[in-house]
Amino acid sequence: MYSGSAFLKPAPAIRRIEERATDCLKRCLRKLRISEIPLPVPVDDWIEGPLGIRFGIADLSHLGADVVGAAFIKDREILVSEGIVSQEPRYRFTCAHELGHMALHQDVRNTFHETDTGRFSRFQPYERQADRFAAAFLMPVPLLVRELFRVCDQYRLRQRECIVELMMDTPESAWLWKKRFLPALTRSFGVSLTATLHRFQDIRLQDGKSFLLPEHLEKLLRPGLPDEDFAAMRIVDGVPRRLAGKEA
Ligand SMILES: [Zn+2]
Repeated sequence: MYSGSAFLKPAPAIRRIEERATDCLKRCLRKLRISEIPLPVPVDDWIEGPLGIRFGIADLSHLGADVVGAAFIKDREILVSEGIVSQEPRYRFTCAHELGHMALHQDVRNTFHETDTGRFSRFQPYERQADRFAAAFLMPVPLLVRELFRVCDQYRLRQRECIVELMMDTPESAWLWKKRFLPALTRSFGVSLTATLHRFQDIRLQDGKSFLLPEHLEKLLRPGLPDEDFAAMRIVDGVPRRLAGKEA
């Protein structure tokens, strides 16, 4: 399923991390003798099962205030705080982030603790790498492509026009993201809105351009909706259109 995957690919800067995440997923598929990655990716089950890493949900307050996850490299153990189990996207991302330390940072340190994961803006390179590994593990490129098309079909949107629109900085694009694609994608992949948007920023088109440019990302991360534009939006012939005046 990783061959010939269409029009999207990871950015060159994250290729190594992407490969490690893909290797990890492939190992799980092989061990489980299945050919398709189920969604959402069963990250905690796969850490413990096919990847053979000890996994536990525990009170981590002895490691420090607000510690949400820890990876013990030599002991091959991952612990996630019981305090975030009910926050599914955060819990899942933290599991995958710790797995990232396990896969990438064997030679760096023996222990990693985090007070937060998935912020993407952090300066520590190892933390950014683990976040990117987590995003790649939970949102593999071929499945992102498949889900983009599936959302189009689900809402009777024209595939080509709407996927191109998603890359634009327009009210139509913002509407598509916020009203159609983000709710569906965050549900399918079991990830947060922030993680999804950052993932699309790391994804490149064949010409090397980012799927989601930094300025679009900033706008989409802002809470709330621009109501005037959105109230007048309708799907006409499979594409979003702003209807003016009485028509709206
Ligand atoms: Zn970390």
